[in-house]
Amino acid sequence: MITYKAMEMHTHTLHSDGTFTVPELCRSALAHGFDGVALTDHNTLAPYEQITPDLERETIPIVRGIEWTTFFGHMLVLGSNRYVDWRLATPNTIDEYLRKIHQADGVVGIAHPFALGSPFCTGCHWQYNVRDWEEIDYIEIWSEDFAPLNPINHRAFQWWTDLLNRGFHIAATQGRDWHGPLSRPENLSVTYLGVENGIVNTETVKEALRRGRSYVTTGPALSFAIEQDGVQAGPGTTVKPGAATARIALDLGTRRKHWEEFGIKPQRIVVVQNGAPVAQEICEVCENEQVHVYTPTLSLWPGWLRLEVYGDYLDRSDTLLAFTSPIYAAY
Ligand SMILES: [Zn+2]
Ligand SMILES: [Zn+2]
Repeated sequence: MITYKAMEMHTHTLHSDGTFTVPELCRSALAHGFDGVALTDHNTLAPYEQITPDLERETIPIVRGIEWTTFFGHMLVLGSNRYVDWRLATPNTIDEYLRKIHQADGVVGIAHPFALGSPFCTGCHWQYNVRDWEEIDYIEIWSEDFAPLNPINHRAFQWWTDLLNRGFHIAATQGRDWHGPLSRPENLSVTYLGVENGIVNTETVKEALRRGRSYVTTGPALSFAIEQDGVQAGPGTTVKPGAATARIALDLGTRRKHWEEFGIKPQRIVVVQNGAPVAQEICEVCENEQVHVYTPTLSLWPGWLRLEVYGDYLDRSDTLLAFTSPIYAAY
């Protein structure tokens, strides 16, 4: 059975430019309500030595990752069974290196694609010319804290949408890009990953990302499925075009104490098909419910479908609060 778990997908420790030890990072992620954390130090596997069964039992499961940090972009690589050297990768030869990572059983995500580059942060802006998008498993659509307000995230969301419209299957994630203890209350977004039997480890997380079982939220937990012929299919799966019912639920109880202080109130649930809204519900009082259910009837065309939730955020209204990776439709 697939169960969705709250993950932080992008972190650093003392082993690169962070200020956390590995145990400090894990304790902090646990305190912020996460079920698992991906360790993604810059160009080093050194922190893995600090991972022990006791640490994971006492805190949370740790996903073995690395942030490939190059002059032309940053890439999150999870669970590869060997170090793939990036130093000779150029903007036009990146596909070859993406294939090498997959041959080493890793999964690949583009980190903060629209972050400012040089002179602010050399290499932070994605400049590689990916030709084979099948080699990209996921994109970090939301980066840093207060993610819904960050213009680099708006650009990433639009870029991802364009790639989906071109027919590519790519999952979405968030990443706080944690470098140390938080000095003020921050609204942290969350990547929920659908893992087998609710078990979080490097292998189950890789499988969830390969299969596109993810969604990103800054508040309520979601569920989104298409029901056809009595069978329910969630993010990452492919259904048949034609008539279908969407099964949507907004769970306002899960992790609520971690987000309610930021004025988050969902008000509009939208199903988007191939970039255009095809069903919408306004729920004025959603925030007073434990679980809000919406089951619109849809007519599916070949392409993709995504759930998007909008509402109040801090002092703004109608702000994107959550979105799923797509469900695909094909003959
Ligand atoms: Zn980075
Ligand atoms: Zn980073």
